[in-house]
Amino acid sequence: MFSANNSFFNFCQTVGSLKTLKILPSNLNFFDIKKKEKWEFGFEKKIKEIINNYPIPNTSFFDYLSVLKFIFVTRRSTVFDLVGDSNIYKEFWEPLTLAVMNTSPKFASAQILSNVLKVTFFRGRKHCLIYQPKENWGKTLIEPAISFIQKKRINFNESLKRIHFKDGNISELVFTKRVIKIKSSDRIIFAIPPTNLNKLFPEFKLPSNYNTILNVHFKLSKKDIYLFDKKIIGFINTKSHWMFVKNQYISITISDANKFNSMDSKEIANIIWKEMCEYVKKKINYKSFQIVREKKATYIQSPKNIEMITNFKKKRFPYVFAGDWTQNRLPCTIEASILSGKKAIEDLV
Ligand SMILES: Cc1cc2nc3c(=O)[nH]c(=O)nc-3n(C[C@H](O)[C@H](O)[C@H](O)COP(=O)(O)OP(=O)(O)OC[C@H]3O[C@@H](n4cnc5c(N)ncnc54)[C@H](O)[C@@H]3O)c2cc1C
Repeated sequence: MFSANNSFFNFCQTVGSLKTLKILPSNLNFFDIKKKEKWEFGFEKKIKEIINNYPIPNTSFFDYLSVLKFIFVTRRSTVFDLVGDSNIYKEFWEPLTLAVMNTSPKFASAQILSNVLKVTFFRGRKHCLIYQPKENWGKTLIEPAISFIQKKRINFNESLKRIHFKDGNISELVFTKRVIKIKSSDRIIFAIPPTNLNKLFPEFKLPSNYNTILNVHFKLSKKDIYLFDKKIIGFINTKSHWMFVKNQYISITISDANKFNSMDSKEIANIIWKEMCEYVKKKINYKSFQIVREKKATYIQSPKNIEMITNFKKKRFPYVFAGDWTQNRLPCTIEASILSGKKAIEDLV
């Protein structure tokens, strides 16, 4: 997980899970399956050092200057409009955009990527940290967060099904198991994603097209796991995007993965496994695999959709909305969702 600033860190501090978190060096390793080339990209280095060392094979100093195009960006531009013709498009701009925005650079808003670069890369190595849980996200994020909010009398496992209005104000919230009557002094924050929000408020104009994120987890034998010599590897010219090594597992993340929605799990595992064998230059077998696909992982973060949310935010409501999608200056991430929660509380006060 990449984090732009301190919100995620502060969140872990609040729920008491800092000890379960580790910060990895921000050096990213890449493997280009077509050219059989490997290289390392050091976010830990200063921007000047990266430009002078040109880490990607067969590139020159001038190729890295494409980053400067993100200083001034128009609202309507996509990442591809800006750097589609760059010599480091395939090796840098495409994997970065997919990882950060879960959207192909051909559709991704250049303004959002520009905002990310301005709070990370342009601010130096301290702002380009990679966080990983020591064990798993359940222990680092989910379990501590649930036990923290359980102390605040939260009801879980109840979907909001309908909203009743009286004289233009919300009078009742109809959940699966109960109906809550709303007094005029009550405050409401809706922290649900646009797709479900639209079921409750069909008149809202919100993005309706989404991108899948696909994760493939392989369990390996102890001897084979050591063939994966780097903790994080970015794959180029492959179906796989990023691979993470942890204990006896490798986990592959594929963003913008709608094309896999109709494929069966075994077929996906075979495609991805072949690419992993190419990396280790050896035909090995996995012990077992598991596929997790989230079909509505994030909405497509295109200039058009960002504008739709910007217009939505200009409207005045007697209640507040939270969720990653409401932070339309940042991509849909944990960071954005934490910031949106803080903003929602500020708006209520
Ligand atoms: C596979 C995957 C990998 C990701 N990787 C990263 C990463 O590495 N780094 C990163 O920063 N971000 C990552 N993200 C994005 C990140 O998970 C989201 O940005 C973040 O979880 C959004 O939080 P949220 O609270 O806005 O929305 P959600 O986490 O979607 O929470 C919304 C909640 O509302 C509930 N809900 C929906 N409808 C109703 C209803 N009608 N009534 C009551 N409750 C309802 C849902 O059940 C859900 O619990 C990833 C996402 C996916 C799917």
